[in-house]
Amino acid sequence: MDKSHVEELMRKNARHTAQGAVASYIPELKKQDPSLLGLCMMAVDGRTLSFGDDRSRFTAQSIVKVPVLLAALLDNSLERLFQKINLSPTADGFNSIVSLETKSDKKPLNPFINSGAIAALSMVAGEQPEEKFRRVLELFRRIAQNPHIEVNEAVYRSEKATGDRNRALAYYMKSTGILECAVEPLLDAYFRLCSLEVDCHDIASLGYFLARNGLTPQDERLADRGACRLIKAVMATCGMYDGSGEFAAMVGIPAKSGVGGGIMGVVPGRCGVGVLGPALDEHGNSLAGVMLLHDLSELFDWSIY
Ligand code: GLN
Repeated sequence: MDKSHVEELMRKNARHTAQGAVASYIPELKKQDPSLLGLCMMAVDGRTLSFGDDRSRFTAQSIVKVPVLLAALLDNSLERLFQKINLSPTADGFNSIVSLETKSDKKPLNPFINSGAIAALSMVAGEQPEEKFRRVLELFRRIAQNPHIEVNEAVYRSEKATGDRNRALAYYMKSTGILECAVEPLLDAYFRLCSLEVDCHDIASLGYFLARNGLTPQDERLADRGACRLIKAVMATCGMYDGSGEFAAMVGIPAKSGVGGGIMGVVPGRCGVGVLGPALDEHGNSLAGVMLLHDLSELFDWSIY
């Protein structure tokens, strides 16, 4: 990887941070600095390159849906998991309610929209939601090699106070039998997981782990190839919500975004990527982050297609 070319792309894309807007439906996220742009690339041979605001901390938000799905896959048979959740991309927004009622099987469309992630979390091992929260947190920490990943309490409280759309989704799923547990404690675990504070290195490590099909940098196997392949397929088709098609055409790598401004990408067999740019586009994806990933994909010929 050539550092100077990447530095040039960072400079070029820094101007896009002035476009888009930071998420405001979670009041605490309004406080984020939209001008940040960070990048970390972790190659499978262990070399790491980082740029800009790579050490700025932000909340993982929907990026945590990846370790949630991983835990659900490790703790359930595929058959059981997909009795509750489909694997269909959607042109609706990430917090959309409509398909839960209109589709005949009442299942969430996929594990990376809010309804699907809440359903996946309900299937993670643990009697109580607190144990499910711990299970996902410990998995994320091990993959990121960072035992200091913690909840941002202010963002958590803000999400919990204003998360009525997620409550609506969860109560609806309870009424149709998709959720079999109490709603509020499960949502509390979901809000805390969304509020985990990370940096570009932490999410690049998650991408690295998937790029290596389930191996940590110490060659510890935490998941098998099949689970990682499935997660990458869901990322490629659903990871950028209703922007997934455009992203596949423009960038062409499995990726997962969050409304905290992060994007985690996987270049299979090559590297994991973590990007931060808090100002979002109309799909809820980092606007400058997507532009930067587009340029990086061209430079390094990343597209899997
Ligand atoms: N915590 C956010 C929510 O549930 C996550 C959404 C996202 O990052 N797109 O609304």
